[in-house]
Amino acid sequence: MTQDQQNPPGPRAYRPGPDRAPKSDALVLFGASGDLAYRQIFPALQGLEAAGQLPPRVIGVARSEWTREQFIERAKASIQERGKYDERTFAALARKLDYIRGEYLERDTYQRLCDALGDAKHALYYLAIPPSLFDDVITRLAALKCDEGARVVVEKPFGRDLVSARTLDLVLHEYFRERDIFRIDHFLGKEPVQNILYFRFANTFLEPIWNRTHVERIEITMAEQIGINGRGRLYEEMGAIRDVLQNHLLQIAALLLMDPPVGHDPEAIRDAKGLAFKAMRPLDPGDVVRGQFEGYRNEPDVSAASDVETYVAVRLYVDSWRWAGVPVFIRTGKKLATTANEVFVTLKHPPHELFDDVMSSPANHLRFRLSPDVVLELGARAKKPGAGLTGEMVQLDAFHQHGDEVPAYQRLLADAMRGDQMLFARTDAVEASWRVVEPALVKPAPLHIYKPGTFGPAAADALLGGNWHDPA
Ligand code: NDP
Repeated sequence: MTQDQQNPPGPRAYRPGPDRAPKSDALVLFGASGDLAYRQIFPALQGLEAAGQLPPRVIGVARSEWTREQFIERAKASIQERGKYDERTFAALARKLDYIRGEYLERDTYQRLCDALGDAKHALYYLAIPPSLFDDVITRLAALKCDEGARVVVEKPFGRDLVSARTLDLVLHEYFRERDIFRIDHFLGKEPVQNILYFRFANTFLEPIWNRTHVERIEITMAEQIGINGRGRLYEEMGAIRDVLQNHLLQIAALLLMDPPVGHDPEAIRDAKGLAFKAMRPLDPGDVVRGQFEGYRNEPDVSAASDVETYVAVRLYVDSWRWAGVPVFIRTGKKLATTANEVFVTLKHPPHELFDDVMSSPANHLRFRLSPDVVLELGARAKKPGAGLTGEMVQLDAFHQHGDEVPAYQRLLADAMRGDQMLFARTDAVEASWRVVEPALVKPAPLHIYKPGTFGPAAADALLGGNWHDPA
């Protein structure tokens, strides 16, 4: 019997995407005059138009007193500043754009929107608005039956804590099926983040060592040189834990910690990630360091006595056979020494000392540099030429050229309009991630003030028991 006969081939590969889901035939952008729309969504729309993926109607809804022409001008300015403006593509996009000026708490806004949607049967509603308005918008859409056959994209953060996330889910599920709810986390649309998943499971050499036997610790850093960019009001409600730890950074952790997905259906990956989230232990307040950059309290719309963290570092444990006892250190902060996102996995030293210099030198590592440059790096020891058996650290670096990458928002919007959920957060993952950070929100750790241009409070080094890997 050949090996193939013993193991008859099943479906060959994981195939992302829905099978027969209808494509969205209109895109409605709530928050059309906002910061996110300007910085990310308009450039994504032009990309979608260029790729032939934009439906015939794109309707912006916001409060600003704009005409349709002013709205188009705003889109143009955004794409010229933030995207790759192309006159012909933009002209085609502009023909699809419409604008409805309206207050989200007034029924009339939705009446005009539903009229403008005409015969569209599968609108995609993108809620790029303050989270406090999510349920107001959803219930008003539903009151006019504009929710039927539609999909909804909800921006992060999904809730403020576990209870509010569950409440929001209840509202959403009252009107939308889970498969029509897209909880967006744009990190998941980034190519280098998707590459963590791909690299782990498209290669065989990693899996045998990807566990507590070989991994000493995992570090995840998201460092930003910028401050809060005048967004004091929003940031005061958020802080670093809600802004990025609960979503972007725990999502990256889940991609690193998950087991290989089982099966081929589109939910297989989210099932495996869901289990990884479930295994994350809620943070012990002693495993959290909070910081605030010096000068934060003088920012506009920030309280002079603000206790909001602009920096957080945590030590996370994972209760699974694979990861028991392996700490996952995660940190993020504003006004740090550099802007970089990366994962640094330190492997264990060899179990037996054969050469004098090995145990006292850094161990092997694997580095996923996610931005601003994209690098995959393997750090190992090799013998130094000459007499004796001593070595040095050598690095095998694979640089990745950005080239024709699809920007995250463009990719995610295209997926949502096709009904493909794979790169969106599922409700179990969102709940589990709130459960992880909840203790740090309920009983905040003391706040350390740190100097801008540093890597945050020294207490974060104490948490790690040494120096964090320097992403600069
Ligand atoms: P902004 O405050 O810049 O924009 C809010 C938008 O909502 C504006 O278009 C505003 O209209 C509209 N709006 C607010 N209240 C009403 C109302 N009562 N009636 C009608 N329109 C209203 O927010 P952002 O764009 O920064 O953020 C939007 C969402 O995206 C938030 O959930 C945020 O967490 C999330 N997000 C933002 C990111 C960013 O980089 N900005 C990154 C990731 C997520 P108008 O201004 O005309 O009054």
